[in-house]
Formats: sequence, C-alpha cells, structure tokens
Amino acid sequence: MNRTLQDWTLAAEALRPDARSLISGTRVTNGDAAPLDVVNPANRRALFQLVSADAQTVDAAVQAARASFADERWRGQGPGARKAMLFAIADRLEARAQEIGLLDSLEMGKPISEAVAQVSIAALFFRHYGEALDKLYGDVAPSDAATLGLSLIEPRGVVAGIVPWNFPIINAALKAAPALAAGNSVVLKPSEIAGLSALALAEVALEAGLPEGVLNVVTGTGPVTGAALAAHPGIDLIDFTGSTRTGRAVMGLAALNGTPSHMELGGKSPQIVFPDMAGSIADIAPVMAHEVFWNVGQWCVARSRLLVHASLYDEVVAALVDAAKTYVPGNPLDPATSYGAVAFEGQYRKVCAYVEQALGQQARTATPWAPREDPGFAVAPVILTGVSPRMAIAREEVFGPVLAVMAFETEEQALHLANASEYGLAASVWTRDLARAVRMGRGLTSGRISVRSGVPGGEGSGMAISAEPFGASGFGVAGGMAGLRSYCRIKGIEFTI
Ligand code: NAD
Repeated sequence: MNRTLQDWTLAAEALRPDARSLISGTRVTNGDAAPLDVVNPANRRALFQLVSADAQTVDAAVQAARASFADERWRGQGPGARKAMLFAIADRLEARAQEIGLLDSLEMGKPISEAVAQVSIAALFFRHYGEALDKLYGDVAPSDAATLGLSLIEPRGVVAGIVPWNFPIINAALKAAPALAAGNSVVLKPSEIAGLSALALAEVALEAGLPEGVLNVVTGTGPVTGAALAAHPGIDLIDFTGSTRTGRAVMGLAALNGTPSHMELGGKSPQIVFPDMAGSIADIAPVMAHEVFWNVGQWCVARSRLLVHASLYDEVVAALVDAAKTYVPGNPLDPATSYGAVAFEGQYRKVCAYVEQALGQQARTATPWAPREDPGFAVAPVILTGVSPRMAIAREEVFGPVLAVMAFETEEQALHLANASEYGLAASVWTRDLARAVRMGRGLTSGRISVRSGVPGGEGSGMAISAEPFGASGFGVAGGMAGLRSYCRIKGIEFTI
C-alpha cells in the first residue's frame, strides 16, 4: 500500500517507542542514569526519553551472549539450519519494512521512502551472508603420510557491534548478519540517537526463531553503554563503526583486556575527474552530486573532496551547482522527499561551523548558504571553491553535505592531492583511459575505489567486494568472503597417525 504524508504522520503520532535493552529475548530496564531526550531532527520535537544501559545491564547482555555461545544453541546448528534462519530474518525484516523504516526516519530525519528501502537493503545483508556461510572452507595443509594438518574455521565467540546513526538498520545488519552467519553470539549497541531499528531487528530475529541470547541489544550513550561494552572482558571481538576519535578511544578500552577489534572509521574521500572521463559533464554531474550529497552527506564514503582537472573546473562546478539544486530539504515523512534533515543539533552546528570557518578563510560558496533550524535542522548542499589543501575543510571529515573543490594539472598532482589525507576509506576516479585507471587504482591509498569508465547504472557488486581501509579510516576486512572470514577464528590442528 502506498502511504501518504498524512498516513505516515498518523503512524508516527501513534508510536510509543520502547527503547529499553533487549537481552535474552526480554526487555530490561536499563538502570537509573539521567535520561536523554531523543529528538526528531526534522521538527525538533522530543520522541522519547532514553535511559542508558549501565554497566550491570551491559554485563547481563554479555553473560547472555556468552551462555548462548557456551551451550552451542546457535553455533552448534548445521550450516543449512543457520542459512535458513538468516533467510527467515530477511523475510521478516522485509515484511516489517514500513514499520522499521518509520523508526529510522523519525530518529534521524531520513526521508521515509529511503528509510523503508534501506530495510530491504538490511534484509539483503542477511540473505547475502546466509548464502555465503556454507561456502566458507578451512584448509588442509601439505603434510607427509603420517600427519594430517587442518586449519579449522570457527566462530570467534561473543562479538560486540558498536554502530553509528547514519544508516541505522543497515549498520545493525552489517554487524549482525556476518557475525551470526559465522556462528557467533552478538551484543549490539546502536547509536543513542537512532537505536529503535536495531531493537526491532532483534525482535524480528526472535520471531524468526533465533535462539534467545544469541542477538542482544543494549541501548544508551557511548560514554556509558558503549564504553562498558568495549571494556568488558567477556567480549571476543569488538566490531566498531564510527568516528576515528571514538574508534581510538574504543581501541584503548579493548586494550585493557587484549580484545581484538575491527575498526570502520571516518573518511575524507576524493572524487577525481580527468578530462578523458566518459560521457558529458552534464551526464556525470548528477552521479558526482549523489556521491557526496546522498543522505545529507552523512555517509562514511561520501566523496567530500572533488579534485578536478583545471581545464574542466568551471564547467564541472556549474554542472554540480545545477545538480545540487535537486537536493531540497523536505519533510522526511512526505514520500516525495528525497533529502532530509541533518541528524541532530550537534551535527548541524558542526557542519555550520566548518562552512563558516572555510568562508572566513579564502573559500567561497558556489551554492546559496542558508542553513535553517526551523522547523528542523536543514542544510542544503554546499559547494566550496577557492579551497586550498591545507584548509580544515580539505582535510577534516565534516560528515555533512559539503563539497570542497580543488583543481589539479597533472595525474601526479591528482594522486598526490588525493592521498594527502590521513584517511583512506574510498575514492572515485572518472576516466576512460585504462592505463590511467590502473595507475590510479594502484596508487590511491583508499580501501574502496570506484573507477568510473561509464555512468554507473544497474546492479553494483556492493557487499560482495572485500576491502580494508587505510590509515585513520581503520582496519579489518569488510565485505565478501574475506569479510565473513574475519568474524572467524582459524584453529590449526595436526593429527599424527
Ligand atoms: P561516533 O564515533 O560518535 O559513535 C559511534 C558509536 O560509538 C555510537 O554507538 C556511540 O554511542 C559509540 N560511542 C561513543 N563514544 C563511545 C565510547 N567512549 N566507548 C564506546 N562507544 C562509544 O560516530 P557517529 O557520530 O555515530 O557516526 C559518524 C561517524 O561514523 C563518522 O566519522 C563516519 O565516517 C563514521 N562511519 C564510518 C563508516 C565506515 O564504514 N567506515 C560507516 C558509517 C559511519
């Protein structure tokens, strides 16, 4: 059924969110810390109050996960049964896509049409890893006739997933699906500003028949709930996605117990446009704009630096300004809206401060600069020219709809500028020259590189590609079979006959 703005508004008003943690199949009271107002950023109205799960609650979640791992109620099931379970979770997620999408839309100001579609993407992760789990093989080592050497693949144990708010249901699925596929038990801590859909995912998993205690969710702030989880000695792997600063704090907590971690951190990804790009500037401008402004620029791989050959500079900027005009902040509950609010007040102030700082230096906006706080936090796309590589706007992650444009003359300069960042998450290269594409692919210090030899369309490889970030963007392989393997322990056994 196609719902209207009025339908969604009524559904939103009828919501009575329960943000308590879900441990071993049961909702529990989080403790008695001072509550936090969770606010809808699109209208600044409080949605509900969140009490952060305290150390005792976090401990209960970890113990529940440990118990479920110890008695093998999940990891002991055969690959066929685990695959069927992941598929059942995917089916149920899709069946509840509207309800779950509404939670993400309200908490972070995401357009409802996208929020609902992203529940289906989360379901895809469960299908993908469900399909993959019975294709994960160990190894037989070379040996003489008297020995047999095996590398066995086993789950790691209890995985703590700590995730940000930008794609709430996708982030939750990105952690839970591969960790569960590999046979682990999980404690998931969603962002304090957008945790309801992770709770819904855990409920969906219980309905699908996932045994209690295998997927637990603790809700609360980073310093209270996240820190208690990261410092817990009962965790076998910390799987963190978030900012570089928080990731490094979490590494410090993990070090207390020697807990291994995966870190998916921040980025300042470049998009590099050569004169030999495919198609016309008018054709590619909407794609270039999407690569930075989608989700209000709040995505880790947003191409927030545009490096463009000097000969194309004016034409590309003009085309991007036109493309940016299609990103108009609207009411997220209107199904026609495709560009929502900035997710919360602190984020809004941070985006504004970065733009004001750049304008106070030598940068200029090619787009109107008119942020607004009423009725909610909105920032239309900002394209900044006159940017020099040393400015903060060229180096630091804004995590908003702000594009810093810089010119280059030679390929070497382009590569140098692209790599002049402490981050190394992603990059796009617009060229049709195969030799150049290979040189750039090899030379870029970025984990995920898109070479655009044509205007993209159709189905991409997405989660099937394994990759690892560089530098301040973190470490650990995500995606594909190598990504699934990173949720496993490899045990070597030598048999002497
Ligand atoms: P954040 O680092 O503030 O928070 C991430 C998570 O960590 C949240 O759940 C938060 O509550 C928790 N946390 C905060 N302090 C903590 C502490 N002391 N101990 C344990 N947990 C703590 O990030 P954010 O603002 O939620 O998200 C934006 C950031 O996430 C950006 O930097 C973005 O690039 C990054 N991100 C990275 C990827 C990726 O795949 N590399 C994907 C999405 C977002």
